[in-house]
Amino acid sequence: MSRRVLITGASIAGNAAAALLGRRGFDVTVVERATAFRDGGQNIDVRGVGREVLRRMGLEQAALERGTGEEGTVWVDEDGREAARFASDEIDGDGPTAEMEILRGDLARLLHDAARDHANFRFGESVTSVGEDAHAVAVTFASGATERFDALIVAEGVGSATRELVFAGENDPRWMDMTIAYFTIPRSADDDRMWRWYNAPGKRSVSLRPDRHGTTRAMLSVAREAAGEQDWAVDQQKAFLREHFADAGWQTPRILSAMDGTDDFYFDVLRQVRMPHWSTNRVVLTGDAAWCATPLAGIGATLAVTGAYVLAEELARHDDIIAALKAYEQQMRPMVEDGQGVPKLAPRLMHPDSRLGIRLLHGTLGLASLAPVRNLAAKMAGGPGKEVDLSRYA
Ligand SMILES: Cc1cc2nc3c(=O)[nH]c(=O)nc-3n(C[C@H](O)[C@H](O)[C@H](O)COP(=O)(O)OP(=O)(O)OC[C@H]3O[C@@H](n4cnc5c(N)ncnc54)[C@H](O)[C@@H]3O)c2cc1C
Repeated sequence: MSRRVLITGASIAGNAAAALLGRRGFDVTVVERATAFRDGGQNIDVRGVGREVLRRMGLEQAALERGTGEEGTVWVDEDGREAARFASDEIDGDGPTAEMEILRGDLARLLHDAARDHANFRFGESVTSVGEDAHAVAVTFASGATERFDALIVAEGVGSATRELVFAGENDPRWMDMTIAYFTIPRSADDDRMWRWYNAPGKRSVSLRPDRHGTTRAMLSVAREAAGEQDWAVDQQKAFLREHFADAGWQTPRILSAMDGTDDFYFDVLRQVRMPHWSTNRVVLTGDAAWCATPLAGIGATLAVTGAYVLAEELARHDDIIAALKAYEQQMRPMVEDGQGVPKLAPRLMHPDSRLGIRLLHGTLGLASLAPVRNLAAKMAGGPGKEVDLSRYA
């Protein structure tokens, strides 16, 4: 009999795990809290081993074809004048803009399409309680049903409720002192293929990025200590942004006025998930639910697909589920800890408070963008760190 696995969360990690386990003959059910598949999100990149995982899944070419077409990153001043430029083709696609640059929603959709025929998906469903005995994990759902599974994989992202049910109080979050919002706005004639990044005084930044859907992806961020904004209602979050960015300058008025009409508003207060262990008996965490490194690390999607792959491979090669979950953690920990090593100072360095600070940042970036320091600076911004050795699964 094939082993029954429940996955909670149908984004990058959940869909990747569902596709990989389903293809390996596991009987996979996925529950997703949202009532339908969630599109939306900004540009994310997949590098190094993450790209190798997509290659092994037969999805690398499709992911490249769905790329955003972003051609690099430009820092601009209030009048839109360039202060520093990093063009991808001059830095081997390893700088702020990576060679495999894809929208989160497009990557999630690609993985979902790969998983759909190999798993049963239930949208508008979530877990309300988890019980375990020696042979199975018994899950009760919000719909009232109770079912037994051989393993439960929690892939619910940074704010995972099932993690808090099973591993109550164990997460020791590392707050990164940065609040961020992403949403899609209408494209304007002067939006080109570059990521345009503007710093405003008061530790604020505003950026515009191209996509391949004829729209533009906007981002607003402010470096400040968290005050629970992640739990506010969307209307309150939007009011906060309107107030904080009212006088920011550059293209901010256009972005704020388009914010009301957007249908994919995403808002978060950045914090890393720090768990002392990722599994207990037959329940295991993966993706952001286990180790969210935050977008500052630029490695969230890479870790999510790599973690799903390692987890599926270890489950496939072990009869003993508990041993498989331990092996998965042993393989993934070094890469995750390396990826989480982004200094807390980083948001503040990239979000100066004063106009003088912004001029200094632009001067530093302008210098870093000149050859020959350009390649070195790009590697520092986006080069690969410690990676899982996938030859173990060849
Ligand atoms: C809509 C959306 C937009 C995003 N936009 C960006 C972005 O622009 N830039 C960026 O760097 N990162 C973004 N992220 C986060 C990014 O996807 C992750 O950092 C990374 O890819 C790891 O993915 P994950 O699958 O572990 O978690 P996530 O992508 O966060 O996915 C978690 C999934 O679990 C579901 N879920 C949550 N709670 C429950 C529950 N109790 N029961 C069942 N399902 C649940 C969520 O609806 C979601 O589909 C976004 C995530 C989402 C969901």
